[in-house]
Amino acid sequence: MADGNLPRAEVVVDLGAVRHNVSLLVARAGASGAATMAVVKADGYGHGAVPVARAAVEAGAAWLGVCSLGEALALRDAGIDVPVLSWLDTIDTDFAPGVAAGIDLSVSSSRELGAIVEGARAAGARARVHLKIDTGLSRNGCPPNEWAELVAAAAGAPEVELVGVWSHLACADEPGHPSVDLQARRFREACAAAGTPVRHLANSAATLDRPDLHFDLVRVGIAMYGLNPLPYAQDLRPAMTFRSSVALTKRIAAGESVSYGQTWTADRDTNLALVPVGYADGVPRLLSGRMDVLLAGRRRPVVGRVCMDQLVVDCGDDRVPVGEEVVLFGDGTRGEPTATEWANTIGTIDYEIVTGMYRPRIVRTYR
Ligand code: PLP
Repeated sequence: MADGNLPRAEVVVDLGAVRHNVSLLVARAGASGAATMAVVKADGYGHGAVPVARAAVEAGAAWLGVCSLGEALALRDAGIDVPVLSWLDTIDTDFAPGVAAGIDLSVSSSRELGAIVEGARAAGARARVHLKIDTGLSRNGCPPNEWAELVAAAAGAPEVELVGVWSHLACADEPGHPSVDLQARRFREACAAAGTPVRHLANSAATLDRPDLHFDLVRVGIAMYGLNPLPYAQDLRPAMTFRSSVALTKRIAAGESVSYGQTWTADRDTNLALVPVGYADGVPRLLSGRMDVLLAGRRRPVVGRVCMDQLVVDCGDDRVPVGEEVVLFGDGTRGEPTATEWANTIGTIDYEIVTGMYRPRIVRTYR
């Protein structure tokens, strides 16, 4: 149906879908006695950190996870008071406001511990820390040969409270990959050496595929947004829809070409619809000639190159009205493409598609 009030480009986030997904994940984790951390870094994977954090907490998530203290403090500023873990702060960060706000902090090295101790002194409060062991991803995290020293340093620092021990898996989205068991073994050894604070290892894929690796807490990101990290089906609902509307229509004659480079030429007289979104709005230019949109009840091909601010849809013999809704991607239930379909077409992951939708030009609304 035509809707003249549609904004130029809009991301619609279905918080009911987020609650559905989180409830499912909380139930899976709960069956093993584990709590659930909802990962809302990168502005909630592009969905809006504060609204999705609230929805996740309503659906039973007991913790939130973010990348940086800035992201964590924004949640506190919004009045969200559940435990929040921030895991990728650099050592030049001023940790005092984080300690004062009761944010849990990840520690990978003695230097990092030292910076957090300074923050705790400045805040006049104990810092809640989670020691991170590198079990095989080789990103952040303490190497196993330095682990005993880090554990001893944390135990000897009255300014810190050891809340958690944790690590992150490299290949949980490939069920049966041998690295998962190897990482789990190293993780168990590290936990044994650190006593028994809150232990957490599993991401979405491991939460769904490896209940034996839930430990005390699971950290779920992509699945709470309804995107399935596993090669087999799950009852998840994609929360994000990206839509626009038809800005202009025109009829061109057979032999006329469309967009930069004239890479597509009409082989018959046809009706075109101009949609005012492009690669500056998160439509990868690599999708040129390889994507459809849902428009007036049907999937229709985007023809010619995706431009910075616009793309062109071939509507064939159909005359669609200006203002008609155009769904770029959604949950797929109306036959529209999904973020996963976009990712597969251009050889990336759906994480990149949805996080890439956090853009100032795009209006974000919630339902
Ligand atoms: N834990 C850490 C440390 C992460 O960096 C991430 C996401 O990248 C997650 C958990 C959540 O992973 P996923 O989105 O695959 O569930």
